[in-house]
Amino acid sequence: MPLDAEVVIVGAGPAGLAMAIALADAHFSVTVIDLQPRAALAAPAEDGREIALTHSSVETLRTLGLWSRLRPGEIGRIREARVIDGDRHDAALQFRSQGALGWIVPNHALRRVSFEAACERAGVRLQDAVRLVQVATAPSHVDLAVEHVADGSREALRAQLFVAADSRFSWARRQIGIAADMHEFGRTMIVCRMRHALPHHDVAHECFGYERTLAVLPLAGEMCSAVLTTDTASATRLMALPAAEYAALVETQFGGRLGPMHLVGERFAYPLVTVLSRRFTAMRSALIGDAAVGMHPVTAHGYNLGLQGVAALTRILREARDQGRDIGDAAVLAGYERAHRRDAVVMYHGTNAVAKLYAGQGAVQRLARQWVLRGAQNLPFLKTAIMARLTGRGGLQPPVSLRLGDPTQRR
Ligand SMILES: Cc1cc2nc3c(=O)[nH]c(=O)nc-3n(C[C@H](O)[C@H](O)[C@H](O)COP(=O)(O)OP(=O)(O)OC[C@H]3O[C@@H](n4cnc5c(N)ncnc54)[C@H](O)[C@@H]3O)c2cc1C
Repeated sequence: MPLDAEVVIVGAGPAGLAMAIALADAHFSVTVIDLQPRAALAAPAEDGREIALTHSSVETLRTLGLWSRLRPGEIGRIREARVIDGDRHDAALQFRSQGALGWIVPNHALRRVSFEAACERAGVRLQDAVRLVQVATAPSHVDLAVEHVADGSREALRAQLFVAADSRFSWARRQIGIAADMHEFGRTMIVCRMRHALPHHDVAHECFGYERTLAVLPLAGEMCSAVLTTDTASATRLMALPAAEYAALVETQFGGRLGPMHLVGERFAYPLVTVLSRRFTAMRSALIGDAAVGMHPVTAHGYNLGLQGVAALTRILREARDQGRDIGDAAVLAGYERAHRRDAVVMYHGTNAVAKLYAGQGAVQRLARQWVLRGAQNLPFLKTAIMARLTGRGGLQPPVSLRLGDPTQRR
């Protein structure tokens, strides 16, 4: 049986599509398969996620030709970030930049532009409304079977390399025999957009209250994203509150800093489960995006890390092909495992530690929190290191760049 594509990717989410575009630009042939129908992929529904992007992610999005496709009203800027501890009014920790600490874009807009760009690449074939039902890896190739959602008919696909980008609860990961460690926080994040009377001045706030945590992120225009995290029973109750009551609760917890606040659209609830795959590669296979590392959203790094993985895997596959090597060879994939694990493990465990510290209500945790915040605020080198990690700029490890790109597409 001949190859259908050099690489087959399961999952046309933001990570899977970025991977497809990057590989097509590096002249690989790619097939992407996804459960959702074309119409849902082309015009993704709002899901309440506002994705904070580091500078290096924006550079990658420019290289892939995605950034210029976003509408001006979809790009918000974060100029300053303040961390508030407990019911104090002043910031315990503050990060500021002359330009931007980072950018913020709705997840559904990232999905839309990723789908548009992927469809325009001649090297990408998209199969929508199909479920991956079988993966069989062999030393020389990978055989896959997909089932058409419409009529249950099956189709076979063969590739040199299989890439799984089918979410943190990846079905494909299990099929290729990769174990994953999951952590259930027992907490749920409620996200929604809100309008407010006073300007936000592009300042993001993270307020660590003693019952719940509230992040207020500045969006384009006089709009913000309110991200409230609490235990799951309280979240169920809060989701059922009438819109005006919920808005009043957020406004009070935020100390009225933005004046009267009103809910815009729906609230979305995300139970918090983080996942770290024990390996990112198996025979002729690799994991990317949330299928590799499903991060806690508190440090806003899931998609950013996903793009780093895309850049790392693309670079390694391109180098292998240029050297005349087989792109599915275990020694080639080991390069991706090393590069991505180095970035992912520190970020994953660091983020989980922050999330646990701030979920704890005991006196010891409160003291630890104050100690950490004061330490970070008063030790310039620590503050610089945190800022470099948060923004993806000037860190100890330079971000992996795709270095592909068409300079005419830069904006
Ligand atoms: C509330 C919230 C806020 C966040 N904020 C940020 C942030 O500020 N910054 C940041 O960097 N990240 C953030 N993230 C994380 C970010 O949203 C994710 O990392 C990113 O969306 C993951 O993309 P993905 O492509 O890996 O997976 P997904 O978006 O989950 O896509 C998986 C795709 O696989 C398809 N699929 C699944 N199973 C199959 C199958 N068997 N057959 C065919 N197709 C299949 C699905 O249909 C889907 O299209 C946030 C997450 C949440 C929940």
